[in-house]
Amino acid sequence: MNSTLAEYIVLFPEPIAIVNSGGEILAINDGASLFWQQNAQNLIGQSLAVLLQQSQDAVQRWLRQCQGNAQMLAAHFPIPKPETEHWVIEGIGINLDGELAILTRIVPSICYNQHLLAAQLQQLQTELARQIALVTELQQHQQALEQEKQHLQLLAERDSLTGLGNRRFFDTALDQLWQQAQVEGHPLTLALIDIDDFKAYNDCCGHLAGDRVLQRVAHAIKSQVRETDVVARYGGEEFALVLLQVSVATALQIVERIQHYVRELKIVHSKAARHPYITISGGLCFVPAQANGATLTEILTRADAALYQAKQQGRDRCILLDWSQNLSSHPQCWDTGWRSPPPPLG
Ligand code: GH3
Ligand code: MG
Ligand code: MG
Repeated sequence: MNSTLAEYIVLFPEPIAIVNSGGEILAINDGASLFWQQNAQNLIGQSLAVLLQQSQDAVQRWLRQCQGNAQMLAAHFPIPKPETEHWVIEGIGINLDGELAILTRIVPSICYNQHLLAAQLQQLQTELARQIALVTELQQHQQALEQEKQHLQLLAERDSLTGLGNRRFFDTALDQLWQQAQVEGHPLTLALIDIDDFKAYNDCCGHLAGDRVLQRVAHAIKSQVRETDVVARYGGEEFALVLLQVSVATALQIVERIQHYVRELKIVHSKAARHPYITISGGLCFVPAQANGATLTEILTRADAALYQAKQQGRDRCILLDWSQNLSSHPQCWDTGWRSPPPPLG
């Protein structure tokens, strides 16, 4: 028996004994002597099974377990005697240069339970940390997915050439603004803006140059409206603009300013076009607050009809149809063709 080990166990207050693989006591400390109320001389050589008042078989099984777990894992053995009922004996196999000894420690089961509880607590904490890490990871994934979704949504609603909203975006936005105008009792103006003789431009200057014009007109429209106004590429060379809470005069003024801006870009048109530079025509439908019976379809139809009239009347101008006028009556017409710039917005 390794004497260092015997010296070592003396340092501990709780009952500790070293037994051989047969369960015979090899060494004890003062705690063990007190526990069994016998001095070391009497205890050394005694059988653990006798001392614990357990069957030889049970103790032997337990000792084998301790040996099997040599230097790896502790094995526990409850001591169910009345006066020792609340004790647990722990054992761990120790390999002493090929000789197996078992270090046994007797601890109150309450302490043992505390050890167990501490271990379980530790386990719970580890598990909790793992779960938190998982949740954090999930949240990060979710956030990334949400960003991706928003990005895709943006792509789905953007016109890639001009960067404006596309028709899909416009339909939804117009619907929302129309509802808002009705609920809050605001006037609403829908303007359709179309590039004049654009086919001729494409034919003479090529599709790429045509694309560039579309971008510049989109920019022109954007530059003359508020950040919150809805502007979209309605399709082909046609743009749509919704103005909320502006009067007839202001709505017309805004579109006039866009027309002026485009005219001033002085983009040389095809010889086959009606005007020497690129121009646009606008068809507007103004719906006053509390317009009775107005529907979105009707508003769009009127704006389209106004645009048609602007084209018919020579292009580079805008026509506004007021909701109070019906389509057959003579609409109010603003001829913006080739005149001085409109006054700045007040
Ligand atoms: P109007 O003054 O009556 O509007 O005549 P228009 O020539 O502008 O109208 P039309 O409907 O005859 O032709 C529209 C042209 O717009 C034809 C098409 O090639 C061009 N267009 C539509 N979308 C695009 C586009 O994305 N890029 C380019 N470059 N051209 C486009
Ligand atoms: Mg056109
Ligand atoms: Mg068109």
